Amino acid sequence: MQKLLHFYYKNNELYCEGTPVRKIAEEFGTPIYIYSKAQIIENFKSLQNSLPNAKILYALKANSNPAILKILNQLGAGADTVSAGEIYIALNSGFKPEKISFAGVGKYDDEIKFAIKNEIFSINIESPQELLVVNEIAKNLNKTAKILIRINPDIDAKTHPYISTGIKTSKFGIDPTEAIDVFKKSLNLSHIELLGIHTHIGSQIVDVEPFVETAKFILQYIEKLEKNGIKISHIDFGGGLGVKYKNVIVNENLPFEENDDKELKPEVFANEVLPILEKTGCELTFEPGRFIIANAGIIVGKVIYTKKTGAKNFIITDISMTELIRPALYNAYHQIVPVEIKAQKTEIADIVGPVCETSDFIARDRKIPTVSRGDYIAVMTAGAYGFVSSSNYNARLRPAEVLIDGENYYLIRRRETFEDLLSKTIMTKT
Ligand SMILES: *Cc1c(COP(=O)(O)O)cnc(C)c1O
Repeated sequence: MQKLLHFYYKNNELYCEGTPVRKIAEEFGTPIYIYSKAQIIENFKSLQNSLPNAKILYALKANSNPAILKILNQLGAGADTVSAGEIYIALNSGFKPEKISFAGVGKYDDEIKFAIKNEIFSINIESPQELLVVNEIAKNLNKTAKILIRINPDIDAKTHPYISTGIKTSKFGIDPTEAIDVFKKSLNLSHIELLGIHTHIGSQIVDVEPFVETAKFILQYIEKLEKNGIKISHIDFGGGLGVKYKNVIVNENLPFEENDDKELKPEVFANEVLPILEKTGCELTFEPGRFIIANAGIIVGKVIYTKKTGAKNFIITDISMTELIRPALYNAYHQIVPVEIKAQKTEIADIVGPVCETSDFIARDRKIPTVSRGDYIAVMTAGAYGFVSSSNYNARLRPAEVLIDGENYYLIRRRETFEDLLSKTIMTKT
């Protein structure tokens, strides 16, 4: 049975849980990010139920609003971070240090120091050089750094090249053959405690095969490590579970989106991957980001103008690449729906923002119910990699964020003001 999304239409009006989306847009203005608490909880629990013996570290980079982190922390999640800034946010949102992991190819010395001082669960080593630096820093602090070694298994995740991280030419992780020596070396370093192996092959992966391939790779690799006298206790399998972006909301008054896309159900993922990984006897962690937060968030904007040129129809909205960069960055597809369905008539239009860049579009040649100046629209599945990559380009103000809980709602980040635009600059005296 298809579970109902917590965003749905009632009498042709878009709701989030028990709250009309229009009400939030009117009270707080647009563009605005709106999140469903129930959807976050449901997404997390569906993963937790499928992976009952594993630890789930939520990947902060998908969305790091502390009010959202608090919900996940209360459900038992840990935090997967990629910078000291994210470690700082995680700690200040209540995550225990022993539930925080830290990955990334270019960790600065200061970041490593911060991680070790805070005694986090693991630093995931991505190069032979980094291992030595971590040992040195730990030694100076008179502490032991717990590490995982990130392997690049050379597996094609069959996703967009910009979010594929596990192929040979990618900058992430260490070549498996070369890594054997890194594992060996780690055992001889005085201030390093080797926990195990880390992989993360990419993001928005909707086929289970690349994950199965990675699991098999890890199983064989661990046998190889054992032959070399290296015993590990931990596997961090990364994140990357893909979600649906098309036909997220289906309604008789909305056009059905062509070339419907797939999603990877956690139970399918678990059924295929767990039996392989469990053979190792290792403790398991997973680091999903998108799967937990993507469909729990939307961004709502207003139609500023509609414009017809000889070549195209344009719907010009207050949502631009500064609020949601995914379409400009990877030609990502997001379903776009009117907050109130007024017309059964549809048109084909480019939905664009005000930013002075041709790449500033949310959708191109999109079939959408006809909308007019002043109407609200919602961009679906915008909870992940949305707000976190917003910017002030064109001196635009970052949007507000609201969390919905049934009929209650909470402002969880205020909209920026003009003062914010100048708050960090320093005027010269002359
Ligand atoms: C980005 C990232 C994740 C999360 O990826 P999702 O596709 O959002 O699940 C997990 N682990 C690492 C190391 C990452 O860089």
